[in-house]
Amino acid sequence: MLRDIHDEIFRQDDWGTPAQYIPELANVPSNRFAMSVCLANGECLNVGAADDPFSIQSVSKVFSLAATLGRIGDQLWSRVGREPSGTSFDSVVLLEREKGRPRNPFVNAGAIVTTDVLLSGRQPKQALAEILGLVRTLAETDDIHINERVAASEKSTGARNKALAHYLQSHGNLENAPDLTLGTYFHQCAIEMTTRQLALAGRSLARLATGPNVISPRHARRINALMMTCGHYDGSGEFAYQVGLPGKSGVGGGILVIAPKVASIAIWSPGLNHYGNSHAGTRAAAMLARATGWSVF
Ligand code: GLU
Repeated sequence: MLRDIHDEIFRQDDWGTPAQYIPELANVPSNRFAMSVCLANGECLNVGAADDPFSIQSVSKVFSLAATLGRIGDQLWSRVGREPSGTSFDSVVLLEREKGRPRNPFVNAGAIVTTDVLLSGRQPKQALAEILGLVRTLAETDDIHINERVAASEKSTGARNKALAHYLQSHGNLENAPDLTLGTYFHQCAIEMTTRQLALAGRSLARLATGPNVISPRHARRINALMMTCGHYDGSGEFAYQVGLPGKSGVGGGILVIAPKVASIAIWSPGLNHYGNSHAGTRAAAMLARATGWSVF
């Protein structure tokens, strides 16, 4: 089935366009594809470039949210909402209207707040070590690293994220200096993983009995709900319609998709659609959901 999806993907002409606003990502060829699926019986299946590391970008927000909920639990929700935004990932509009409380933890402003929580009382290195440590534990490998070039590249062009952080600060919703929180956020987004590793890291969210279940079932349920409603920004409704599974995309072209109690799925293809979600990745997720009947609906 995975091979059929792979072959179908390579028959397409339109791969979308890699993220242009982070120069290091703009250079990645768009016609790359990988997909990994970890099943409840412990088996993991891979197709395509499943051992090529890619920039997980916003997929990291799932792990920083898990770490934040582990650290301060429901207190997070006084600073961040739980509703879909219907606006782009880096939109400033809602933040102004809603007085500095981001709509959800997956839009950039919300993720900057969760990173800020992890940073409080610590150095950026320690906060990053917690996120990286969580991902490594979940994937059962130490071979996951931060790409400093990608982090520096985003820092040099990240004017919108800087605007968001300063706006949050002006509303008293940032505990640390904007530069420190943003530096940590850019580094967390610059974590590189293969689809093989990302699918392994998703097992705890899928509540599979295999692998280390570090994320509590209660938090996993809630993170999945947010992935379903907010994981693809203003494309979340369409992803739920086409795929019917919780998913979180990143502008590096990665998508983590969870079939609760059934499978953890990681897909990568760097060309993006107009929402900033992987074009081929979204198609592949829809094909897999159709072929397996794994939709939660
Ligand atoms: N680092 C990216 C940004 O803040 C993440 C966005 C994404 O992957 O959707 O713009």
